Amino acid sequence: MRKRIYLCLAHMSGNEMKFIQEAFDSNWVAPLGPNVNGFEEELRAFVGASEVVALASGTSAVHLALLDCGVGPGDEVLVQSFTFCASSHPVTYLGAAPVFVDSEKDTWNMDPALLEEAIKDRIVKTGRKPKAIIPVALYGMPYRIDKIMEVADKYGIPIIEDAAEGFGSRFDGKVLGTFGRFGVLSFNGNKMITTSGGGALICPGKATRDRIMWLATQAREAYPYYQHEAIGYNYRLSNVCAGIGRGQMTVIEDHLAHHRHVQKLYEELLADVEGISVHKAPDARFDSNFWLCVMTLDEGLKIAGQENAYAEKITTAVGGAAGVVHVSGGVHTDCEPNQNVEAMRVFLDAAGIEARPLWKPMHKQPVYKDSPAYLNGVSEGLFKVGMCLPAGPLVTDDDVRYIVEKIKEAIVR
Ligand SMILES: *Cc1c(COP(=O)(O)O)cnc(C)c1O
Repeated sequence: MRKRIYLCLAHMSGNEMKFIQEAFDSNWVAPLGPNVNGFEEELRAFVGASEVVALASGTSAVHLALLDCGVGPGDEVLVQSFTFCASSHPVTYLGAAPVFVDSEKDTWNMDPALLEEAIKDRIVKTGRKPKAIIPVALYGMPYRIDKIMEVADKYGIPIIEDAAEGFGSRFDGKVLGTFGRFGVLSFNGNKMITTSGGGALICPGKATRDRIMWLATQAREAYPYYQHEAIGYNYRLSNVCAGIGRGQMTVIEDHLAHHRHVQKLYEELLADVEGISVHKAPDARFDSNFWLCVMTLDEGLKIAGQENAYAEKITTAVGGAAGVVHVSGGVHTDCEPNQNVEAMRVFLDAAGIEARPLWKPMHKQPVYKDSPAYLNGVSEGLFKVGMCLPAGPLVTDDDVRYIVEKIKEAIVR
């Protein structure tokens, strides 16, 4: 029997155990120690930034970046709508409101023209400028950061790059996360590299780095006892987890090469399959890590079993994620992938292949139903036709050929 093929499983392929063993042997098991320092140094060298703070998650990195941009109750933050919820949820932690901006069709990321429209309109409607802009490197694809920076600079609004999925992606040769005031990285279990759970914030300089570090360690004052004059957070990365990260950093280049190779294979093998398109970089400046490879299905493409798509109620979270999920009342929402996409997902699942819908745009999420949104239909349109395919370090060439074979098999001509 063929082993089940997942989107992007972690692969302990470096010398992770050596670093973990060192942490245990030295008893540096708290969120400080040689692995945390070493991991930060390796991250700095890799992204080409002078300051990086290792944190407990990518979500906490977004949270601290927002805090340092002065975001507070009543403020607004412009967020790419087409994203995972970790880009926008921290805005609400601060009592601020996300304002969602739709995508442009080449990169699937924040539309710079729509961004400017949104800024102008928020100024008219609220009399104030939004406090930050969060573009997202969806599935690793770089956003049009040159154009986004032009708009941001024109209005003097800081950019927090959500490069959680874009670790190692580059725009015009420069690593994502190093353009804006802040860059967010994630080392969750399914990202380009993992620390089991973790993240990092790329900071613009020593003073900012020190403030972020202070906030991430409960904001303590210099006294012989615990003195607090501000609210802080327990957001540092553990020295044990940082050991995993150091091991992973020894194979990051292999991971990058692998994801790009898998993307190339999909592009080749699906090139002449009518009704299916692979999401590609618009031009050579957009150097994606292809964290996940993505295809779209023409609406008219007929997939086996599509008349029964959504017939059954789902009782688990996408990807069988850990934790507790609410079992919803129904099988349909007002915005869902087309029936042929759901049928393809079920068909591949039965063949032992994990495939997933794209992120459902935040402006279509009930929890954000009252948030302002500046829309052009792109993210909603893509959500209905798109599908993520396996691309992780454990996915072999043979797996990709098998996946493509099954995709073709699912199509009813
Ligand atoms: C994974 C991810 C994050 C951060 O997630 P953590 O799980 O908290 O590390 C942030 N934004 C996006 C777009 C992500 O995919």
